[in-house]
Amino acid sequence: METVQPLCTPLYGAGGGSMAAGGAAPVCMIVLGMAGSGKTTLVQRLTSHLHGEKKPPYVVNLDPAVHEIPFPANIDIRDTVKYKEVMKQYGLGPNGGIVTSLNLFATRFDQVVKFIEKRQKNCRYVLIDTPGQIEVFTWSASGSIITEALAASFPSVVVYVMDTSRSTNPVTFMSNMLYACSIMYKTKLPFIVVMNKTDIIDHSFAVEWMQDFESFQDALNQETSYVSNLTRSMSLVLDEFYNALRVVGVSAVTGAGMDEFFVKVSEAADEYEREYRPEYERLRQAAEEGKRREQQEQLDRLHRDLGSVALDPGLSAGLDEAAAGPSDLILTRGNMEDDEAEDSDTDDIDHSVAESRLEEPAFQNFLQQTQSKYREKVQK
Ligand code: GDP
Ligand code: MG
Repeated sequence: METVQPLCTPLYGAGGGSMAAGGAAPVCMIVLGMAGSGKTTLVQRLTSHLHGEKKPPYVVNLDPAVHEIPFPANIDIRDTVKYKEVMKQYGLGPNGGIVTSLNLFATRFDQVVKFIEKRQKNCRYVLIDTPGQIEVFTWSASGSIITEALAASFPSVVVYVMDTSRSTNPVTFMSNMLYACSIMYKTKLPFIVVMNKTDIIDHSFAVEWMQDFESFQDALNQETSYVSNLTRSMSLVLDEFYNALRVVGVSAVTGAGMDEFFVKVSEAADEYEREYRPEYERLRQAAEEGKRREQQEQLDRLHRDLGSVALDPGLSAGLDEAAAGPSDLILTRGNMEDDEAEDSDTDDIDHSVAESRLEEPAFQNFLQQTQSKYREKVQK
């Protein structure tokens, strides 16, 4: 098990994201899907399958709120960010806590990339499990930062998990496909749709809907809701998307479909080498400056979201000794308040000075405001 340490280096340092040479790099599978679709169970199944084939994968858990993970993770976000503490300190609900935890972790994702690079000779696959709620990852700055950091360093593919048993209604199926489509265009990475839970229902009905327009229309004709009209129009749009799609039916519980799944992964990795790697290298060479600016903008956005100062590369370099990342504040602040209460001025270390070195006024105000609001709420 490797633990991601507090942020000491800028996320995108000079020469960062170096692509491993010559096909030796492991394939990163970013596992996405709606809550309950079976992402974690699939990661568990893939892990045990690969161990059985003597190709142990490198496994990363990015779900800060999961109670227990059923696979041995090499890196677990929960070792770095305490989700409950984040909720407490910022006065957030469960979803806000998950988003903020992932944002905090994204600020040090460069370390995860380095851990994977160190292991790349020994493992062919990296599995990334993501938070239950898909939008936390796909529509957040941290999700983009993590996806881009991986895709800039390793052949990376998106594994989109679908609950086949909950997609038998054509309108639900269409919604799920539209979601998949939007993620494919957002991540711009090779894409595999995994129709999971084939032990409950075979996925052939869905494949038929995708291949045969008429059969989907027939299924829709049974629907009388106004949504079916919308769906009818949308299904025309999705036709193009279906053509470019790799689909595989699996059961994460029984292990059915694993061999076919790995065939699709290898096709997707080839597509990455053919179409994405040259693009990434061209981007890096031709527009290095622009790219850095864009990444900086994303970091700034993250920065604004968190109200934290520790993301600023210049500042973190200046604070080398203190080297505090945002989650250090979270991890230490809670304890400090409990242990030292009001009379901390008797202490040898003046925390208020030490902390003000680490925090911009905006962050202090933000913390004070949210904490006092939270206290008011609790006292009521
Ligand atoms: P996640 O939120 O996407 O990570 O979903 P989980 O992996 O936690 O799975 C959600 C639920 O679906 C759990 O109760 C699993 O046991 C169940 N599940 C996952 N994969 C399968 C499968 O292939 N077949 C069946 N029958 N159930 C599954
Ligand atoms: Mg999960």
